[in-house]
Amino acid sequence: MSIYVLRLGHRFVRDDRTTTHVALVSRAFGCKKIFMTEVDDSILQTVKKVCEDWGGSNEFGIEIIHDWKSLLSSWKKQNGMIVHLTMYGINIENQSLNFRVKKNILLVIGASKVPKEVYSLADLNIAVGNQPHSEIAALAIFLDRFYRGKELSYSFKNAKMNIMPSSHGKRVEIRKQGKPS
Ligand code: SAM
Repeated sequence: MSIYVLRLGHRFVRDDRTTTHVALVSRAFGCKKIFMTEVDDSILQTVKKVCEDWGGSNEFGIEIIHDWKSLLSSWKKQNGMIVHLTMYGINIENQSLNFRVKKNILLVIGASKVPKEVYSLADLNIAVGNQPHSEIAALAIFLDRFYRGKELSYSFKNAKMNIMPSSHGKRVEIRKQGKPS
């Protein structure tokens, strides 16, 4: 079982920073891949650089897709589960996340208004509180609830840099190229 993210409706320039953060949260908190409909090349470069420095090139990826509807229908055909994060859904407080079964999960998040069909195509519409806020916050809180905090200890293979957690100052271990982490 793996979690994949579909980011719908990126608006060029205006959403660049948010989309980058959505991708970084997806990587950091254990998602396998993020599908995006359209993005500026600088977002791809930023995420690539983070994976090169902090690891994860083999564990996390971005795929640009042109037709989100066919992704949703092929996901269903492959018996995957589609979870749409939206303020209109069932509050995560009242929704069991015990569907963490063997199915791959596609988490759908929007940038602006999400097409109506997504609400009916999704197996579940889940709200992280029923107030409007942010896809970055919704994604992070969903993943934290889903993984029950385990995602916070996630580390990546082949990292060039590794943080040595410290309560004062910054300590980073630099690994030699090619040396396994
Ligand atoms: N009015 C928009 C809508 O139709 O949902 C809000 C867009 S919001 C800026 C961008 C994305 O953040 C939404 O598509 C949704 O995925 C996520 N989001 C915002 N508030 C949320 C909430 N309370 N629960 C879950 N997801 C939320």
